[in-house]
Amino acid sequence: MISIARRRVISSLAEYIANEYFPISEILPERIADDNQISYCYGEYGDSFDGLIEHQFGDFHIYINLTKVNHPTSTRSRFTFGHELGHYFIDEHRIALASGETPSHPSINDFSTKNSVEQEADFFACSLLMPEARFRADCYGQPISKELIQRLSKIYQTSITATLLRYVNIGNYPLMVICSQDSRILWHWKSDDFAYSYLKSMSGKVPRYTVTGEYYYGRKKYSSSEQVFVEEWFTYVDVQPNTCSLMEECFYFDTLKMVLTMIW
Ligand SMILES: [Zn+2]
Repeated sequence: MISIARRRVISSLAEYIANEYFPISEILPERIADDNQISYCYGEYGDSFDGLIEHQFGDFHIYINLTKVNHPTSTRSRFTFGHELGHYFIDEHRIALASGETPSHPSINDFSTKNSVEQEADFFACSLLMPEARFRADCYGQPISKELIQRLSKIYQTSITATLLRYVNIGNYPLMVICSQDSRILWHWKSDDFAYSYLKSMSGKVPRYTVTGEYYYGRKKYSSSEQVFVEEWFTYVDVQPNTCSLMEECFYFDTLKMVLTMIW
């Protein structure tokens, strides 16, 4: 994971750029590219990448793959564009591109990457599209809920996943987000102040006696947050069984057999 210090640097850089161009309105990555003489195009490029930035003879060009992002104004397209801009605006990334050390950067923005360069560009995209001060103000005094995340995602025109990632980093409640598909845990994030770290997961599967587990093993969906005992999700917890509970709420994506779980 990216260090706290590094996140601060990237978030400030992205927020500065966002406020320079769009101090009060929605962030439009294309306009930022235009103003920095970064050319770009949208096309159907098959399944291989979401976005890519290339450097040739001093010029940068961004490709956005409509096969993956669907439409130039989709939330995934906006995030991909922000991610590629991250490779331009973060000094180390741009210098590596310009020197030919990394001639191009094909990126797949499904949030599962363990590559630190890709994680930094993802973090830049979140910070650019959801500038810190504005995002904090919109969260202020609001309890965490599915509705809040949906509202924020609408305000910033970002996907639920990207909005959750931003919330994990700068939201006002300690939160863990778990992405699972077909009952298998794909990845998880947690805020720095979230108290538990070790998921109780048998061979990568979602634990049965959780809200998410009920969806996979019992086909049951909940429309609001539910209490769940800490030990159902986590191991190495220093509490008596059935005494300490957390709240759990899910975003269900039936066609993908996928769930984004929020635990706080
Ligand atoms: Zn990338």
